[in-house]
Amino acid sequence: MKIATVLRDDHHTRNVDQELRKLLAQKTECPHIFIEPGGDEKPDMVFSIGGDGTMLEAVHQYGFEPFYVGIHTGHLGFYADWHPDELDDLVEALVNNEPVLAEYPIVSCHIRTKDGQSIEKWTLNEVVIRNATLSSLVVSVCINDAEFENFRGDGLIISSPSGSTAYNKAVDGALLHPSIEAIQVAEIASINNMSYRTINSALVLPKHHHVDLKISNPQIMLGLDREHAVWENVDSITCRVGANKIKFARYKKLTFWGRVRKAFIVGQE
Ligand code: NAD
Repeated sequence: MKIATVLRDDHHTRNVDQELRKLLAQKTECPHIFIEPGGDEKPDMVFSIGGDGTMLEAVHQYGFEPFYVGIHTGHLGFYADWHPDELDDLVEALVNNEPVLAEYPIVSCHIRTKDGQSIEKWTLNEVVIRNATLSSLVVSVCINDAEFENFRGDGLIISSPSGSTAYNKAVDGALLHPSIEAIQVAEIASINNMSYRTINSALVLPKHHHVDLKISNPQIMLGLDREHAVWENVDSITCRVGANKIKFARYKKLTFWGRVRKAFIVGQE
């Protein structure tokens, strides 16, 4: 099996990585090849060791083919089930148990610029659109090619089901189970008065629906998971449920709602 590890850049995380490699070599019979970052080789399994941000980096580095397992070296991570104290149990489970495979939908994002460029992106958590300055973002929103509303406010978040527990949650979006193939459009501080009006509720769009966001601002701040940049002359952005999914190998009996409870209500019990 070809294995890659993606690490948060700190001493504790590097120690956990070394310990994991040692245990895998000791306890498993099949030889493992550890892939070095930056090469062309494709791993079968990727361990993200760090936080949720590390998992986001891992999925953007290795894409849709491998299975992902998360080990959290900081506070409890939403994508990371395993604590470094449990490495023995994790390696035991890898050797002896069949994992439950969880496939998480992504947001696919098609960006068109005013000078005719067409750029495809995808995110595991969300696409965030904000004005690049402190003035309002102005966006004409169409759903399935029909006019829906004119948005004016701080920004819009288009999240996946697993991203619904991230930035989307902070703006009162709903939490979606990742078995629901949908995207959610949530507002950040919309202006609602006698001149401007938006729905002011999060919208959940099923697979095969799409939302077109026609941008009026000359510059926007675009967030694609961890990647944030100012984009010039964006004409429109179309988001829909992506065709691919990110595959997680689960060796613990922790459900999505169990993870939500642990992450937001009770912490590590
Ligand atoms: P970060 O270091 O700013 O941490 C953001 C927090 O979001 C961390 O606690 C992380 O564990 C948590 N998080 C990330 N993905 C999550 C998920 N799917 N479910 C629940 N919690 C999640 O940034 P980072 O660690 O690089 O993570 C990037 C993410 O941060 C973005 O994708 C965005 O969702 C989130 N974010 C949230 C807010 C907010 O809640 N106001 C603002 C900006 C970014």
